[in-house]
Amino acid sequence: MAKITFLGAVGAVTGSKYLVEAGGKRLLVDCGLFQGSRELKQRNWDALPIPPESIDWVVLTHAHIDHTGYLPRLVREGFHGPIYANAATHELCGLMLADSAHLQEEDAAYATKKGYSRHKPALPLYTVNDAQQALARFQEIPRKDPFTISPQFTVKPSDAGHILGSSSLQITITENGKSSVVVFSGDVGRYNQPILNDPQPIAKADYILCESTYGDRDHPTTSPYDAIADIVNRVVKRGGLIIIPAFAVGRTQTLMYIFRQLEEQQRIPRLPTFVDSPMAISVTNLYVRHTEDHSLQFTQLENTGNHDPLNTHEVHMTCTVQDSKKINSMNSPCIIISASGMCTGGRILHHLAQRLPDARNVVVLAGYQAEGTLGRQLLEGAKFARIHGDQIPVRAEIQEVSQFSAHGDRGELVRWLSGFTAPPKQLFLVHGEPAAAQSFRGTVQEKLHWPVTIPGQNDSFDPLA
Ligand SMILES: [Zn+2]
Repeated sequence: MAKITFLGAVGAVTGSKYLVEAGGKRLLVDCGLFQGSRELKQRNWDALPIPPESIDWVVLTHAHIDHTGYLPRLVREGFHGPIYANAATHELCGLMLADSAHLQEEDAAYATKKGYSRHKPALPLYTVNDAQQALARFQEIPRKDPFTISPQFTVKPSDAGHILGSSSLQITITENGKSSVVVFSGDVGRYNQPILNDPQPIAKADYILCESTYGDRDHPTTSPYDAIADIVNRVVKRGGLIIIPAFAVGRTQTLMYIFRQLEEQQRIPRLPTFVDSPMAISVTNLYVRHTEDHSLQFTQLENTGNHDPLNTHEVHMTCTVQDSKKINSMNSPCIIISASGMCTGGRILHHLAQRLPDARNVVVLAGYQAEGTLGRQLLEGAKFARIHGDQIPVRAEIQEVSQFSAHGDRGELVRWLSGFTAPPKQLFLVHGEPAAAQSFRGTVQEKLHWPVTIPGQNDSFDPLA
């Protein structure tokens, strides 16, 4: 019997893992890490309901850690098949999985030093070596053409417009001469964005698994350029610094593009900009190389030759910890961009610990802040931030700029779903917190009249029934 089981991203936005079974073979679609609250992170330590060595293949929608970050653990626990991804996703994973492993090791070492772990010494979920073992299992698949994994599974990717390499996967599942087409949305991006292509429509699906991160809201239609220019000019006037926790992949490049445009138009002063994230620097280079995902607007600028659309005029890329520490001495207006985007780890924590107590500064939250993260607490007006075991007073201004989201909003998700030429037998809403998924179910029922299910953890269905 064919079966699809929801192993993650159920009632939450992280931990994406969908197990597809047919003809005695097992294909895992995405292999994400649970991120956010302590309770969610704890789930990364739970064994999967099936042995990892019984999975034949993994295929990835895109490189974000909540879709790939469990791979090193999966391999460590016995998975030994190929991991299929397109070239850009493969290269991004090379950076991101190594970085994720590094963070796991650093956090464990820090917890050991500070004595706040139950284990002594604290254990990392996986190591840099585990990440290398996982990376050795990658095999590249085409960006757009169909790819047959086995007699049971054929995968047709299409551009999801979310980050470099991001895809929705249309998987044809075959068993005993019967076939069914199941579409995994991956993360659906935005329309008419500065850098990436629009999400591409897909014509046919018997079943759809669609993300619902922003299923309960519409992004502001006001210009992100205006929002950023306002903040920068206001904060510069009062002598503050602009601190931006940003995902190294995608968000940093979009922000730099917008800062650059604003500088060119003389709408903001040319400020020293610190990109304190070795990974963001490498990712920017990948964006320049992988032109297949770019919009024309970006390519035209790139081809003018005399300017670099992904860097401000005075940019400082900091790779080493020493360089990073030098930023601490900056006391005049500047921009600091650093990961992680939800303030769950990485160098941004050191910048926040130093800059949050000063009311002149602003922290710009430019991406989704999941429940249980420090970013979410700041967004909700926390007066203190707990960073590395210390209580830091929050006096800096906290500003959300949600125009930068890499996820489609309610209207954009409906627009993407409307690309299907016939209703599916069932739409499953995944990758959303409960309120967002429930609200989006109502929207889909009202606008498209489709049958919608919000699955629970480890629920399954038969796509050939
Ligand atoms: Zn994503």
